Amino acid sequence: MPGSQAAVAASFARERWLLPRRYDALRARALDRFLREELPHAAFYAPFAGRPLHELPIVDKRTVLADFASFNRFGITLEAALEVAEAAERSRDFTDQLPGGVTVGLSSGTTGTRGVFLVSESESRLWAGILLGQLVSPVSLRVMARRPLRVALFLRANSNLYETLDSNRVAFSWHDLTQPVGDHLAALAGTDVLVAPASVLRRIADLDERERRAIRPLQVISVAETLDPEDETVIAAAFGRRVEQIYQATEGLLAVSCPAGRLHLNEGHVHVEPEWIDHRRFHPIVTDVNRTTQFVVRHRLDDVLLAAPGPCPCARPGRSIAAVLGRADDVLHLRASASSGSDDLVPVYPDVLRHTVALAGDLGDYRIEQHGEEWHLAVTSATPVTALARVSVETARLAERLRALPPVVVPMPWPTEAPDAKRRRIRRVS
Ligand SMILES: [Zn+2]
Repeated sequence: MPGSQAAVAASFARERWLLPRRYDALRARALDRFLREELPHAAFYAPFAGRPLHELPIVDKRTVLADFASFNRFGITLEAALEVAEAAERSRDFTDQLPGGVTVGLSSGTTGTRGVFLVSESESRLWAGILLGQLVSPVSLRVMARRPLRVALFLRANSNLYETLDSNRVAFSWHDLTQPVGDHLAALAGTDVLVAPASVLRRIADLDERERRAIRPLQVISVAETLDPEDETVIAAAFGRRVEQIYQATEGLLAVSCPAGRLHLNEGHVHVEPEWIDHRRFHPIVTDVNRTTQFVVRHRLDDVLLAAPGPCPCARPGRSIAAVLGRADDVLHLRASASSGSDDLVPVYPDVLRHTVALAGDLGDYRIEQHGEEWHLAVTSATPVTALARVSVETARLAERLRALPPVVVPMPWPTEAPDAKRRRIRRVS
């Protein structure tokens, strides 16, 4: 029975991924101490004092925002946090803090509610230390021995986070995403480590060589957005460097890429439980044992991750993922065909759809939005009519393989995107 063989293979893959070869007793002790001593400081968790992790409720962004004060140690309300954060966003001055030296940050939500998070100064330092420890390459380390390493960060908002780190070893420069990339070019000359969302790296990579001549970083690091393979290829070629990745969410620093191109979970600090979608894809449920200002405990993310089974060729221990595929609403749905004998919706994952779109030939850049039965397509190529026809053919082939009804592909104008919004090529609107 091929079906049951597939099931065995799937469970094998999961087990291999789930169980690292050496069980880390230190990690287990840290988690245990965190649950016993730190967690009861938050009102929401007080009734669960002494309970093991798997007995605690799984929460998400909505749960936390609905009862914000009970998820942090100081009982800071959402209104108080937002007031400080929004004043800072407007003035672009991010030095304000809440009582107790707590900094508030807003995450770059793409739709609906934005994430709000609180961190203390010691948490920021720890975060930055972990980040640097995991990311700084041997070449960058040699630079640090001689002079400060120049790190340029393109981020939605500044925060005390990066300023606390400025030292004689590292000099950070912050580049506001709400300003056009061209305005930053002069300041980027001499940058050693360039950290930016994939779409910004791509825009810099697309400049002609003369324009970005002075930008020759030792490390190029993608953050905040999904790094599509096609962007990765262009960016790597332009800079002559491998593109590294940080997978970072409001919920913490979740994973960092390795030389073998996988993303290793930050398991020394963050506990990740997979909520499986199929045999390789899952939503992460995150517990961060270092966060004791705003608690992140069994926090289920909308992101869809692709597990990489087996040990990584780079020999780093622990679990790794092959890719961050996107968010739950980057997964489009097709109606199952009559021959499939099912009336369920068939999910089309962004990695699969990207591959299908690539088969349709060079479209330039593209956006696909699902609106019910219709998939709206925008392309930058010179021949949108041909592009539409080719995408229709390829998506119909994909639907047939998935035993689903083909989508109705219709053209749409290029959507307006705020400069500081996360870029998403594929999105399910309804
Ligand atoms: Zn690796």
